[in-house]
Amino acid sequence: MKYYDKLIFELSEEGRCGYSLPENRWEDNTDSIPSGLRRTLRPNLPQVSEPDAVRHYTNLSDMNFGVDTGFYPLGSCTMKYNPKINEEIAGMAGFQGIHPLQPRSTVQGVMKLYGDLSAALSAITGMAAFTLNPFAGAHGELTGLMIMRRYHICRGDMKRTRVIVPDSAHGTNPASAAVCGLEVVQVKSLPDGTIDVDHLKTLLDDTVAGIMMTNPNTLGLFETRIEEIADLVHACGGLLYYDGANMNPLLGVARPGDMGFDIMHLNLHKTFSTPHGGGGPGAGPVGVTKRLESCLPLPRIDGEEPEGNAGRVSGFMGNFGVLMKAYAYILMLGKQNIRLAGPLATLNANYIKESLKDCYRLPIDRVCKHEFVFDGLAGQSTGVTTLDVAKRLLDYGFHAPTVYFPLLFHQSIMIEPTETESKETLDSFIEAMRKIAVEAATDPDMVRSAPHGTPVRRPDETAAARHPVLKYSLTAKSI
Ligand SMILES: *Cc1c(COP(=O)(O)O)cnc(C)c1O
Repeated sequence: MKYYDKLIFELSEEGRCGYSLPENRWEDNTDSIPSGLRRTLRPNLPQVSEPDAVRHYTNLSDMNFGVDTGFYPLGSCTMKYNPKINEEIAGMAGFQGIHPLQPRSTVQGVMKLYGDLSAALSAITGMAAFTLNPFAGAHGELTGLMIMRRYHICRGDMKRTRVIVPDSAHGTNPASAAVCGLEVVQVKSLPDGTIDVDHLKTLLDDTVAGIMMTNPNTLGLFETRIEEIADLVHACGGLLYYDGANMNPLLGVARPGDMGFDIMHLNLHKTFSTPHGGGGPGAGPVGVTKRLESCLPLPRIDGEEPEGNAGRVSGFMGNFGVLMKAYAYILMLGKQNIRLAGPLATLNANYIKESLKDCYRLPIDRVCKHEFVFDGLAGQSTGVTTLDVAKRLLDYGFHAPTVYFPLLFHQSIMIEPTETESKETLDSFIEAMRKIAVEAATDPDMVRSAPHGTPVRRPDETAAARHPVLKYSLTAKSI
């Protein structure tokens, strides 16, 4: 029997304890604590023995699924390769113990790391300079758009308040533009999944601040007309923003700066060796071309505050531990090896796509890059939906792919295997997906009621997000 078959959370027994402190130690000090700040109720904690507490949390952790327990083919926000050694490096006492308010003279090594990492990211992306301050991808987008605005405003070009975003874009793109006070205009995709350049032409005028894109795009397809798009946007006075959250397919192979992009962010917590999930910590460095360098936010490594800077987006200089891991990752792989990530991820994605396209509907049948999108099962008459397939995959021991995104299709299943998965892992995933397609035809009710073997089955996701139960609650007792 598994621990979760019992799901016991009420372990508390009056008077039981795991650790005790000397009885009268606190009484000596009570006078020094103002009466208004003194506790009148007992701390509201469960009363359990140490082994019971340890077993409870160990068993709970066993109910979790992560990249360290199994294959995790989530598309777009994929968890890529996070070498364990980088955790150790970032956790070294000398790095972990520093404080942002330390005198500058005592953190010169860290400042050098910031400088070297910025230079490495510039070399990888073809940008001229980077700020490492933003804490997340969406934070990087907002910073990048603030830079875009500052650039136009500094030139006295006040009319540019519209940002063009493709209909396949990640949800944070239009959200960041809106938060920045810009108006979002959508450009359509063609049936082949790339931007409709003719539609784009009709949107370009002197009110356009810029366009936000990613390439390969969210469908995993390369925008082959990117240079033409860059020329068109620049000709109308706009700037090109590159969403580099998932930069792994391009590492060492192609550079957004060379494609004509002016501003971009990277998600170090996707592409550069920081595991993500649970809300952080992350880092979303923003790079710009030469003409936008003075618009980068404060504080800057050189201590300068140039005219036209975008202000502050954070108190200090970003999440140091995440930056440290990215630096170690880049140095460890080096120029020769970093360029293997993209082609291998691309090979893995195409292998899965070709092996499954007879059972899952492939709306755009082209060579993909690091990820691709199915539109549900080929036999959609069974009534088995993408959600059902995703839930059934859990029974086979796999994390579900990204589902119902991008919004271009009704039954999107977005798969990204990453470069580090073995052929055996890919084959067992393909086998499970094929089995589910057969089950959908022969026993659809069983698939529709999956998962059958997980501790939690189909939670009410809206209720879980709106009314999360985050703490243990006992009725407090008077001391
Ligand atoms: C993850 C992701 C983002 C947002 O990054 P956060 O760190 O979650 O804010 C933006 N764009 C794309 C394409 C992404 O995959």
